[in-house]
Amino acid sequence: MSFSFPVSAAVKDRLEKLGLYSDEDLALHLPLRWEDETHLTAIRDLKPGVAAVVQAKVVVAEILYRPRRQLVATVADDSGELIIRFLNFYPSQVQALQPGRLFRISGESRGGFFGMEMVHPRCQATQPDTPLPDRLTPVYPTTAGLGQLSLRKLIDKALANLELEETLPEVAYAGLDFPSYAEAVRLLHHPVPDMPLVQMGTQEAPAFLRLAFDELLAQQFSLHLARQARAKKQSRPLRQNGSLIQVLRASLHFTLTKAQERAWQEIGRDLAKTRPMRRLLQGDVGSGKTVVAAFACLQCIENGMQAAIMAPTEILAEQHFRKLKDWFEPLGVEVAWLASALSPTQKKKTVARMASGEARLSVGTHALFQKNVHFHDLGLVIVDEQHRFGVKQRLALSQKGVEPHQLMMSATPIPRTLAMSYFADLDVSTIDELPPGRTPVTTKLVADSRRDEILQRVRAVCREGGQAYWVCPLIEESEKIDLQTALDTHAKLQAQLSELNIGLIHGRMKTAEKQTAMTAFQANEIQVLVSTTVIEVGVDVPNASLMLIEHAERFGLSQLHQLRGRVGRGARESVCILLYQNPLSEDARSRLRIIYESTDGFEIARQDLLLRGPGQLLGARQSGVPLLRFANPERDRELLERAAHLGAMLIERHPDHVRAHLDRWLGTRLNFTSG
Ligand code: ADP
Ligand code: MG
Repeated sequence: MSFSFPVSAAVKDRLEKLGLYSDEDLALHLPLRWEDETHLTAIRDLKPGVAAVVQAKVVVAEILYRPRRQLVATVADDSGELIIRFLNFYPSQVQALQPGRLFRISGESRGGFFGMEMVHPRCQATQPDTPLPDRLTPVYPTTAGLGQLSLRKLIDKALANLELEETLPEVAYAGLDFPSYAEAVRLLHHPVPDMPLVQMGTQEAPAFLRLAFDELLAQQFSLHLARQARAKKQSRPLRQNGSLIQVLRASLHFTLTKAQERAWQEIGRDLAKTRPMRRLLQGDVGSGKTVVAAFACLQCIENGMQAAIMAPTEILAEQHFRKLKDWFEPLGVEVAWLASALSPTQKKKTVARMASGEARLSVGTHALFQKNVHFHDLGLVIVDEQHRFGVKQRLALSQKGVEPHQLMMSATPIPRTLAMSYFADLDVSTIDELPPGRTPVTTKLVADSRRDEILQRVRAVCREGGQAYWVCPLIEESEKIDLQTALDTHAKLQAQLSELNIGLIHGRMKTAEKQTAMTAFQANEIQVLVSTTVIEVGVDVPNASLMLIEHAERFGLSQLHQLRGRVGRGARESVCILLYQNPLSEDARSRLRIIYESTDGFEIARQDLLLRGPGQLLGARQSGVPLLRFANPERDRELLERAAHLGAMLIERHPDHVRAHLDRWLGTRLNFTSG
């Protein structure tokens, strides 16, 4: 993979920053927008804020020092005069703007004190009859040190060298009214002026959809191939014998819901196979995934192998540890706990127990999969809240030792379109039913100005024996301010609700301190728990029936949904109050509306996908997962369905075409698989 023409090392470096390694990559580097330089505008007809090209002669050009050094020129055509202004400029520019010389000047004009002016327009010396371009001018995303003009030239060179031939047989596009690949690519780089730009901008143009579809096909191919590769790998079959599971079942104070049973059947069957399981267990907050995970662990342990459960935060991992220890110790199954907060001696001991195989189940954070940790005989890995981990972390995990079976769990339901795209190499089990006896949570949106009423409500709930969470906002830029808000709120509430015990929990506390606070809240020694978002995932205190979220407008949809899921777990009528501060941005308003109108995790996740694209749901921000560049699975769901439908057939019947297509689309990029 390289360029078919000479490129200096420095330029190569910059192109790599943009992810561009070959002619094909350049061809797929599409403009952000286009400028219309295909016709001239008379100076008299310039409109403020509208980009235009004028052809005018320099009247006078001079360097002025008021208020700061700048190059200012007056230019004129037959219809009037225009000021052009440069705050940064080279001597060569001063030199070029000779009175009497003719220029094409393009940029946005604005009404200045002395009439119309353009700041930093592009100026090119011209002859009166030099033809104008007949195509729109592309503006590309670029990086420091690589100017528009140079990038444009490189891309044009690549476009001139490439055939841009079709990679797939016609059947792939049957019935779709799409242009060819070559037409689509050339058109998007250099559209004709009457091409509806609005459509291009909203990415609904057939040329754009053609590329989106090609990209989705590439993704489907790579997912199918990953699945095929996995089918060839071996892992130890964990047969169902059920002895330990029977005992645990009998000791539970509830029976599994139908949905839990169904998910468990699917997982149990997978574990018994020699093919490594890669299954996603999804179920809304509180749907009871943990017990299903526990069954899976026991099936593994019954076969004499070790199991491990990894959770994204210490507090959640610890909660799993305690629950599983309660369940497993009566069965004589040893459970180990590993987190970075352990002392070096404790850690050493635990790691030794894991290496010897003494620890049958290990629970922990990502500390479980550090370099120095080895398992004696690991048969199953469970990752809770998998979307919180980056894809890279998940990959690291699958490369540890022989292929263990893997179960990923997610309380952020993956919308179908996303499951079909990013997770298509996984099998999916869904718990689509909540355990009985849950009370629906009422959601209220309350402006921050009505805080006093809220305090009354907290008082009333706690007087009746209930408990409340009080969540302070996350301030992304500053963990310190974040912490300070929680501390302030805690102090204020202690004063205002002096008859109640107010607890505090935040990310900076030591694990032991967090644990003390959680235990006290669990025992109702604390009635109101003030927290930062550390309680977001997994925490389970059924007696808590009021969830209060300050500055709800700053939270993401899935966060709000997860937080709301902390209440409504017991018999008490539960309420989630979203305090917000006016004025609300358009975006915040839609998020609050969605969370207010829906309690269905799937619907919320789908809306989230529409609002923000897949990055967030995939945990891509931390991990750099290769995202789709042109397609959006939710917006382009019909194309996605088609691509998914075609994928297997094309791989089977046209393997060479598929390989060529993958070369074009993935080239040097990572594959799309989720691990
Ligand atoms: P999540 O799917 O969010 O991880 P958990 O596994 O933490 O949910 O379960 C939430 C709560 O529901 C726990 O207290 C758990 O013991 C309880 N639970 C799980 N399954 C059932 C069931 N079938 N009937 C009643 N309670 C259940
Ligand atoms: Mg959970």
